[in-house]
Amino acid sequence: MHPSLMKSIPVAVPSAGKFTRDLFWQAIPAWRDVSENTFCDSIWQEQNAIHNSFTLKKIVGDLVSRDFIEDVEAGLLRAPMAVRLSPYLVGLINWSNPYDDPLRRQFLPVGSALEPDHPFVTLDPVNELGDSPTPGLTHRYHDRALFLVTDVCPVYCRFCTRSYAVGTDTPGVTKVSLGVNDNRWEAALRYITERVELEDIIVSGGDVYRLRPEHIQTIGNRLLNIDHVRRIRFATKGPAVQPMKILTDTAWTNALSSVVESGRKLRKEVSVHTHFNHPREITGITEDAMHLLFDRGVIVRNLSVIMRGVNDDVATHSKLVRCLTHLNIRPYYAYISDLVSGIEDLRTSVADTLMLEKWVRGSISGHNTPTFVLDAPGGGGKRDIHSYEHYDRETGISVYSAPSVKPGALFMYGDPLRTLAPEIRQAWTDPVQRSEMIRVAIEAAGGMKRSATTNNTAECKHQPGVQNH
Ligand SMILES: *Cc1c(COP(=O)(O)O)cnc(C)c1O
Ligand code: SF4
Repeated sequence: MHPSLMKSIPVAVPSAGKFTRDLFWQAIPAWRDVSENTFCDSIWQEQNAIHNSFTLKKIVGDLVSRDFIEDVEAGLLRAPMAVRLSPYLVGLINWSNPYDDPLRRQFLPVGSALEPDHPFVTLDPVNELGDSPTPGLTHRYHDRALFLVTDVCPVYCRFCTRSYAVGTDTPGVTKVSLGVNDNRWEAALRYITERVELEDIIVSGGDVYRLRPEHIQTIGNRLLNIDHVRRIRFATKGPAVQPMKILTDTAWTNALSSVVESGRKLRKEVSVHTHFNHPREITGITEDAMHLLFDRGVIVRNLSVIMRGVNDDVATHSKLVRCLTHLNIRPYYAYISDLVSGIEDLRTSVADTLMLEKWVRGSISGHNTPTFVLDAPGGGGKRDIHSYEHYDRETGISVYSAPSVKPGALFMYGDPLRTLAPEIRQAWTDPVQRSEMIRVAIEAAGGMKRSATTNNTAECKHQPGVQNH
């Protein structure tokens, strides 16, 4: 049995427990006197979002050492994502031990933990730009498309797959601009209207939490009015990082529920897809917000990203799934981390992810169990993590195919180098040995053979060794 999972075998399946109703933010020096009403005011949350280490230091004061702040600054120099922390998150982080804190790990890089990027890492790991017929619209699957309506979010996640566009520029990355823009939206809507096979539209970004209520309504109603569009999903991390908005920004919440209502009248499903990664992101405020959405008949599903030291152990992940279910949020996908720059310390191997899945499945009903997936690097779409054509646990290379998405193509993922034997790690640094490891993996997956015998387009989509930063 895998040793890292041995120690995390849950004695009993964890219960959801009670969600905290404490005034937890008052432990933060700058917010000692902030009342519940003020803290739950969505405008106050916006105005007090933290964008840099300087403000962070001012807010958390002596709770953190100067060394820690310097470590964050060193991390930020190499990060492809800018910083934005909601006060809600800042209040939930355990600042007396920020290094091990699962929330800090997701949003604030520290220089001392950074590991060299895997050679497969790119700025747009799942090749969204390559599958975009018009700016900010990715049409990869036959019947559904991803519409990036904005490029800002309530927080910025280190592991964001969209670091090519989301958030402000960083020292290393100048972003593709996907702001709210009439012409861009019109071009995307025209494309969706023309493609009658598009039944299912994901409205994402960025994050629809940062759209104004009238934008939610415009985009929702424009899509609902397209005959062949049957389903819309609004994607937002908001409930996990700033749940009070649902309770106190009534114009926004009403806009969302009015689109859900309009959809229901047309017998079209309008749902919310959110993104919780750790049980500690859930509080009494979340519970109230989710009850409100449930009362209004809004379907909410969750996508989580599996990250080392955050939710890669059985106890935490099982608890996350149970807490979400308790709030009527349906766990939908659990993704292995994409090959994003600067997050090697967060990535897990395919082997460890398979083991995690093995333990989580069965701990709760199947319809509340997420499918553990890999978003195939290069643009194969979501694949069941078990469905590889080949997986070499020594080199860490797994090879996937996606016959309904890109017939004949193969897609490769690489386990974190940290998880490999020293001599293999060494081999990855040598371009010749690296190409050989890749060639062997592709051949074992049937790639070379197929292309030689049937002359179809079987090939590896990923260009080994390409680094975009
Ligand atoms: C994830 C994703 C979708 C939706 O996929 P589902 O499996 O239906 O949730 C659609 N388009 C793109 C580009 C995606 O990345
Ligand atoms: S909220 Fe979503 S889109 Fe925004 S930074 Fe995080 S992962 Fe990326």
